[in-house]
Order: sequence, then structure tokens, then C-alpha cells
Amino acid sequence: MIQTLKTVKEYKESLIAPAIREMLDALDITRDLKPGMKVVIKPNLVMAKKPEAPVTTHPLVVKAVAEWLREQGIEDITLAESSGGPYTPEHMKRIYHVCGMDTIGDSIHLNEDCSAETVNTREGFANHSFHLITPIVKADYIINICKLKTHAMTGYSGGIKNLFGTIPGLEKPQMHYRWPEIEDFSRMLVELAETVNPNLTIIDAIDAMEGNGPTGGTSHPLNLLLASRDIWTQDYFAAGLMGLDPMEIVMIRQAVEKGLAKPDELKIVGDPVPEGLTSFKKPDSISLDFTGNVPGFLRKPFVFVASRLLKSYPQVNPKLCVGCGKCAESCPAGIIRIENKKAKFRKKGCISCFCCQEMCPKKAIYVRKAL
Ligand code: SF4
Ligand code: SF4
Repeated sequence: MIQTLKTVKEYKESLIAPAIREMLDALDITRDLKPGMKVVIKPNLVMAKKPEAPVTTHPLVVKAVAEWLREQGIEDITLAESSGGPYTPEHMKRIYHVCGMDTIGDSIHLNEDCSAETVNTREGFANHSFHLITPIVKADYIINICKLKTHAMTGYSGGIKNLFGTIPGLEKPQMHYRWPEIEDFSRMLVELAETVNPNLTIIDAIDAMEGNGPTGGTSHPLNLLLASRDIWTQDYFAAGLMGLDPMEIVMIRQAVEKGLAKPDELKIVGDPVPEGLTSFKKPDSISLDFTGNVPGFLRKPFVFVASRLLKSYPQVNPKLCVGCGKCAESCPAGIIRIENKKAKFRKKGCISCFCCQEMCPKKAIYVRKAL
């Protein structure tokens, strides 16, 4: 498996475009492309944040990929994403605008068709089908461009996790409610990534996020772009660059166990791994997988007991809360209400998914440990 890596010191078109070109040439992506094919780029636009915040995929990375595709004769290029909140044209237009996607120009079409379609999954999958945004279903070729971040629930957010944004709008919190345990939720994510099956995954780690990701953390630049055809092994590799143990990230451990991620076969092309990388600060809520050494048959009961003892809950800081209601809108358990312009949380029923923290634009939600 070829893993490409390029050092890019800052978000500058003159630095990003040649790096993207070199990586896509090294992966021989042109051999996949055929005239008339529909190419969909799936960025991370989890919420309306300006490009300089380390939350969303930077528009210059998307632009470099779209313009490279144009040079290869590809004309049908669509940017498609379902961010947090409702999946409507108005909401997506605002997201595109704030995240700088409308500055890319004519090389890419910004999707506003907010329909979705049901896709049956392969035999043997626990999830029998997924409801996915239409451009993903119709695409001939999918380029997944994620942002490298820590994540309050899953510990890590890279290529696999980015594909959760192919589930339309407020169906995402419903899926959290359906699979509240990290083991089940991660299995769903792995099956979703197998179903979407992107042809290429690029990780924007020029600036990345540490701490309370995926939206409330802080900047931790890695000054790197990564690209690979192998979403699984690349996530294993990228988690390691953050100083995380990839086998403690449940979705990555599951990908290894399924034979999808093959870290032993990784071959780095491009720039060397920079020396002196520092470890990322983990989220306060972190629910990393500490079951790696627990025999398989004991894993489920062990997780059941440990997760209850170590459970974290969201708490609101009333001084920061402006009563916008975005947390209540995204809470799958329906336990948040807005009273006197402040969010009020009921602990009973909370599944610790941290969708509320993810969607809070004011960083007003913090984590309280049960112990
Ligand atoms: S999303 Fe944040 S600011 Fe908005 S109501 Fe909830 S806690 Fe308050
Ligand atoms: S309160 Fe927050 S963490 Fe708890 S279920 Fe609702 S969204 Fe998830």
C-alpha cells in the first residue's frame, strides 16, 4: 500500500497545488479517470467555521484537487457533504459560504440537492442498508478529503469518520442513538466506509485539531498533506502521527481485525515523516479502547462494566451559552431543552455521544467524568 506524504508549511495555493499534483501522480490516479465520469469530493464541513479554524477541510486543498482533475479532462466534479444540523439547501449554502468553499470558483459544483437514497450493504454486514446523500450514491469516483482531528466520542477523526457526513442531516444523531456503545458505533462506521468505498482519501493535516475535537479543540499544525487509495491503513498511520496508539481507536482496531488496515504493508512515498512530532492532547471525554489486551470473549462484558464506571457527561457553562438551541437540535436522546435562553441538560438518558458539544458554536459544553 502506497502512502504519500508531503510537507506543506502553510495554506498557500503555490505550496498546496504542487504537493497535490506530486501525490496524485505518485498514486497514478490518472489511470482511474475516464472522460464523462462523475467525480464527487467529500470534504469535512461539520459546521460553519472559517477556513483558518482547524475544524473543516481547507478550501485550497479542495481547489487544488478539483483543478488537477480538470487538467486530466474531468468536467463533472461535485462537492457533496451533509454537515451537522438539518440537510437543506439553505443550511448547506451557509456552510459553503462560511467554510470558504464558494471561493473555489468554477472548477467545482457545490451540491444543493439535499435528497438521499437507500443503499443495500453487502451480505454479512450488521447494517443491512445505509441512507446516503444522493451525489455519493451516483458518483463514479469518490475523493474523500478529511481534516485530521481528535474526536470526543471516537478519539480520532480522519478518513473513516469523515464518511459519517454521507448520512443526511439529522439522521446522524439518530444513528448515535441506535448504536450508543463505541464498539457498535465504530462497527457501523467501518461498514459505512466499506459501503461508500472512496477511491482516494486525502488528509488535510497542514493544520490539525487536538483536545476537544472535532469542533471545540485547538490548533496543532502537522504541516502535512497525506493521500492514499487505502483509507484504512492511512488512518492507522495518521493516528500514529498524532501520538495516538491506533489500536486504541476502536474503528481502526476493528479495521485491522477485519484485515482492512494492513500497517505491515505501508510504504511511504514523498517526504519523510518529520522528526520531533509532538503528541496531540486528547479530548476530555476520551473513550479510547483499552480492551486490546482483553481476550475477545471477555471484551463485551469488560466494556460494559468499564464504560459505565468511566462514563463522561456533557455539562453546560451558562456564562458561554447563548441559547441558540443547536445542542438540543442535535441531541439524539432529546434530553436538552432551552429555558430562559440557556441550555438545560437532563443526565438521565444521555448516551455520551457528544453531538451537543460538537455542534455548540460557543464552546459552552464541557465534559464531566462520572468518577
Ligand atoms: S449549542 Fe451551545 S450556545 Fe447553543 S444552546 Fe447549546 S450550549 Fe448554548
Ligand atoms: S446530551 Fe449530548 S452527549 Fe448526551 S445524548 Fe444528548 S447530544 Fe449526546
